[in-house]
Amino acid sequence: MITDKAKLKALLAQPRRIVITTHHKPDGDAIGSSLGLYHYLIQQGHHTTVITPTDYPDYIDWLPGNGDVIIYPDNKELSEKLVEEADIIFCLDFNHLSRIYELGEAVRAARAAKVMIDHHLEPEDFDDYRHWDINACATAQLVFDFIVNKLGHKELINKDVATCLYTGIMTDSASFSLPNTNAEVHRVTADLIDCGAVNWHIHEQVYSNQPQTRLQFLGHCLKEKLEVLREYNTALISVSRQELEAYNITTGDTEGIVNYGLSVEGIHLAAFIVERADMVKLSLRSKGEFPANEICKKYFSGGGHRNAAGGVSNDSLEAVVQKFKSILPEYKKLLIQ
Ligand code: 5GP
Ligand code: MN
Repeated sequence: MITDKAKLKALLAQPRRIVITTHHKPDGDAIGSSLGLYHYLIQQGHHTTVITPTDYPDYIDWLPGNGDVIIYPDNKELSEKLVEEADIIFCLDFNHLSRIYELGEAVRAARAAKVMIDHHLEPEDFDDYRHWDINACATAQLVFDFIVNKLGHKELINKDVATCLYTGIMTDSASFSLPNTNAEVHRVTADLIDCGAVNWHIHEQVYSNQPQTRLQFLGHCLKEKLEVLREYNTALISVSRQELEAYNITTGDTEGIVNYGLSVEGIHLAAFIVERADMVKLSLRSKGEFPANEICKKYFSGGGHRNAAGGVSNDSLEAVVQKFKSILPEYKKLLIQ
């Protein structure tokens, strides 16, 4: 059992079998932090595998090490074997095993020491060692801190580690624009640039490399689907499966669209509600003190951060939109402040 830093360091002192996993539908921080840690661990001879519970979007599939990632639904047997045989399992950018779907039970049952590195609220108690801070702007920031300050290995932040961690921090901080992007975050990113991250190239890969249909879909959302509920300073975009199909929209292509709602002047809360194959998914973003995560937790079996949260529903798209609208009066005071 590794309950302190010394035991963790001792465990990592010789080559181990290590699995790194992250939340379903991984985003830039999930994959960036996982591959960043991966590139650190392989330098020390650990047999390391990143396993994701689902596939992930194109805008992060160029990261170094992407080809080594195992996607659980495509490789169930191998994934379960690796999890079962692992000495250490790193759980990155999530803190409830339900966030990794089916893989969760395999991780729970595994004999490995479980290390959680995460920045979300209210962690479940399944880990043996935790590097957790809700004030971190990204899990990638915590991985940097873990390698440099906990394990004392700044010299092992090579170009690959730096590129992946920079991507995690950049995407989770919405390009260094969210309130938790403090001076420390900029010091860390400056260090990552010194260690080889080519910041302009990473921006270009992530933000300026989009399929034309995705931009056309965004145009459709903004022109045809954006609803501004002035009475509640709230903006809403909802899209059906047919609309997704019409624009050939795949995993991750809808990410970030919710931010356009929040960018309308005077808007304090924005929702993006999308009909996926098996459920309706809701993404909320808010400004200032408004607790978007409270709405997701209370009404949509979800959670997240105060200003960026999400949830799901098994109801129809129309019913979820109606439910969301019906909740707004409860929050009117906060929304019109
Ligand atoms: P997104 O809107 O980008 O899908 O999610 C924003 C944030 O909300 C995520 O970083 C995550 O913290 C949280 N989140 C999104 N969906 C869920 C969910 O279904 N359950 C929980 N607990 N959190 C979610
Ligand atoms: Mn994150």
